[in-house]
This record gives sequence, C-alpha cells and structure tokens, in this order.
Amino acid sequence: MSLRLFNTLSGQLDELTPSDGKTLRMYACGPTVYDYGHIGNFRTFLQVDVLRRTLHLLGIPVRHVMNITDVDDKIIRNATAAGIPIAQYTAPYEQAFLEDLDSLRIERPEQLARATEHIDRMVGLIQRLATAGAAYQAEDGSWYFRLSSFPEYGKLSKKDLSGMEDGARVDLDEYEKDSARDFALWKAAKPGETSWDTPIGRGRPGWHIECSAMAMEYLGDSFDLHAGGEDLMFPHHENEIAQSESVTHKPFARHWMHVRFLLVDGRKMSKSEGNFYTLRDLLLKGYKASAIRLALISVPYRHQLNFTFDGLTEATNAIDRLRTFHQRLITGSFAPGENPALQEAAKKAQADYLAALSNDLNTAEARAPIFDLIRAANTAIDQSQLLAGDRDAILAVLARFDAVFDVIEDHDAEPTRRALEWAEQAGRQADVAPELLARQSFTDEAVDALVAERTLAKKQRNFSRADQIRNELAEKGIVIEDSKDGVHWKRK
Ligand code: AMP
Ligand code: ZN
Repeated sequence: MSLRLFNTLSGQLDELTPSDGKTLRMYACGPTVYDYGHIGNFRTFLQVDVLRRTLHLLGIPVRHVMNITDVDDKIIRNATAAGIPIAQYTAPYEQAFLEDLDSLRIERPEQLARATEHIDRMVGLIQRLATAGAAYQAEDGSWYFRLSSFPEYGKLSKKDLSGMEDGARVDLDEYEKDSARDFALWKAAKPGETSWDTPIGRGRPGWHIECSAMAMEYLGDSFDLHAGGEDLMFPHHENEIAQSESVTHKPFARHWMHVRFLLVDGRKMSKSEGNFYTLRDLLLKGYKASAIRLALISVPYRHQLNFTFDGLTEATNAIDRLRTFHQRLITGSFAPGENPALQEAAKKAQADYLAALSNDLNTAEARAPIFDLIRAANTAIDQSQLLAGDRDAILAVLARFDAVFDVIEDHDAEPTRRALEWAEQAGRQADVAPELLARQSFTDEAVDALVAERTLAKKQRNFSRADQIRNELAEKGIVIEDSKDGVHWKRK
C-alpha cells in the first residue's frame, strides 16, 4: 500500500514515494527555542510524527531533518533583556523541547540541526545568490533577496502577487502575513547584538535562509517532502523555495505538507485570551501525556482541531478502554482455536485502519475500526467465544495501531514525574493540580501494602475494610482489578 498525501504545491493528493527509490528524505521546520512549546506547536510536530510512523509502517525508510532556530529577533531581544549570551538563553528551551518530544513520544528526527552551527552554509548560499543576481547588499550592509529575480514566487501559496512593490523590503523574522517584499537573508550587525564575522560582512542570518541551507546540506538540492504548520506556507516556505531554486535551478521539495492550526475552545490560542497552554501546563493539571498525544493526533492534520478539556477527557477514556482491553487479552486464558467471525473482524479492522492512514493520514477514520474491533472482541470474551488464535490476531492489529498512535503501552509516569520536577525548579508549584499531588504522593510500595491489606481483609471476610481500602485507592486515582491470577492495580 502506498501513501497518498495532499501536496500544497500541486494542490492535490499525490503519492508520496522516495524519489531515489530507497529512503524518503524529508525536512520539517523545527521550533524557535525562545520559550516552552505550546500545544499548537506540538500538534504540528505530532502530525509529522504520524507521517513518519505511517511511512515506516508501510515499509518506507525515512531520513528526517529538523532545524532548531536558536538565533532570531525574539531570541536576541530576550537574551539581551536577560543580559546573557543567546546560547545560554536558548539552551534550557532546547532541552525542554527535546524532553517534551520524549513526553509525547514523538520520534526524534534522524538529524537535528542548530542554525548557529550552520552559519557558513548560509553565507555560502547567500554568496551564490549574489552571483546569480538574486541577492543584493543594502546600504547598512544587510543582504536581501531580490524578489523580482524569481518570477515563480507565490507558486506554493498561490498568492496573487501582482500588486507587489518592486524593491520594497522587510527584515523581520516574525511572520509577515500578506506582504511580498524583498526579504532579509543576512542582517548587518547592530551594536550589542550577537553577530558573526563572515566574507559577506559582520552580521547574522535571517530566519528563512537557515532552512534552505540546512535542508540542502543534509538532503541534497532536491528532496521528497517539506513540512510545517500552515502559517509557514507564506512567506517562510515561499522564501525557502525562492532562495533554493534560484541557485540550484532544481525543484527544492517535491511535496509540501501543511498542518492546520489548532483552536482552543473555538478561538485562536493566545496568552491574552487566557487559553494558551504549553505541554507542561497540561501535565501539571494532571492530564496524561498519552491523552494529550491522542487528542492532538485524532483530528486529521488538514482539519481544524478545536482543542477542549472535554476532548482531553474523551482521549483519556479512549486510552483507558484500549489499555483495559489489551490487558484483558494478555492476562486472560483462552481456549485454543479460532473463531472465523473474529478472524474476519480483525482482518477487516486492519485493512480499514491502513486504508484510512494511507488516505492522507486520516487518523480519525483510522481509529474507528480499532474501537469497533474492541467492542466485538469484548462481547466475544464475555460469551467465551474468543479463542487463543483470535487473541493473537487481535494483538497483531493493536500492535500496528500502536506503531503509529503509540498510546497503549503505558509510558505516562515519566512525563508527569519530569513535569513535577520542573515545576519545583521553575517555581511553578502553584500550577500543580491538587489531585495530581495527591496521586503522586502515593508510592507504588504504599499501594502494594494497601492492596495486600485488602486481600487479607477479604480472606478474613472483613468486607467493609476491603471496600474502604478500594475507595481510598480510587480517590487517589488507583484502580484495583481482581482476576483469576490475583489482584492487579493501575494508576488512572
Ligand atoms: P515556532 O516555534 O513558532 O517557529 O513554531 C514551530 C512549529 O509550530 C511551526 O511548524 C508552526 O507552524 C507550528 N505552529 C505554531 N502555532 C501553531 C498552532 N496554533 N497550531 C498548529 N501549529 C502551530
Ligand atoms: Zn523552516
């Protein structure tokens, strides 16, 4: 099966295959490390994770490059305000970003590339642009891309740029929504700002040139796919195309993937609206990393996701259902043999799941058959009609599901522990939900001891004490399950 993915450049669903016949080479714009990542950023990184995992599931090896923007206007402004060098300012945010990727189980790209470590490549590219007549130096020493030298400008975003002012310039790193102007490739040094001494003068790179330079460094002049949030389509990606194709005269990326922005409670997420959440904010509220992952990937990447706390609760419940069912299959004992109806159901669920993912990464449609299968299998178990061969077939389907969704196996303790540790260091204890604190204060040993006491109470027919312990544990978010082979407990 192959993956059909919407391509912003062609405006249609195109088959995504490695052009070298071996490895799919892809570049995704990474974070600007001036603050903690918010759930909007992570929706985009998660959807790229869904893409790379789906490619792997389809047997396609991936070489994925992501930049870390560790120099830009905001970083310089904030580092200057804090009176520290930019590297000292960005290091903790980069570290936090990588930890957050781990918390959300976003696979690391094969190559992470810091902008400040590729200044030479950017300077080299600007020199080639100058030679080609596509770049010029302004009076203050800054370098600009000459938009009029690239007639195809606008081909990605399909913007009508006929009203464009020739020679008008913009030197901001921040997104400029509607202006098409000569943009800064290199900014001449200003007193007190971080700068590099280079053959094109003392200064620092503009934001757009970094992605062109690093993408071509690691993936070659032409590669298979370029991804990012929808806000980057214009002007950032348009500028990347212009800079790169002006020197190579080859198509830069064949395929462009843009992830739709998320809304929170139906509105644009913003600090001033009070609906702005970092991953850490949500973990401190007591939500599990797996639930956040599932909530952010369950709406397909081209659809608007309206993030709500109800949605997070729905994701939490869905994961509970998955894990409980998985546990039931693993711990249960089933008679040998196969039930043809369940074999058929497992086959169909797997086919529908793969078909949905292959159809433009439709995660919502991919989820549905898995939950249908769980319903059918649970009913069969209740009626003793699920046999050992069915268990194996269904476990294989769940493994394929988890190869992309990655929420069944429970890895939730570590992100929560890390977030709590961070809250303490960052003086954010006030943001920790009381329920979470109560839950965490209960160590595994303490739970084991209470569970043992309950078992003893039941043996002694002291059912009121046994129920009391069960309730006490439930209040701390711990669920006890009695099964044939003993008592199991888990944190909710
Ligand atoms: P930044 O750190 O601002 O450069 O953004 C990193 C990535 O997150 C980029 O691909 C952005 O397009 C993406 N992004 C930023 N805000 C949102 C949002 N609200 N929803 C989805 N993606 C976003
Ligand atoms: Zn970029």
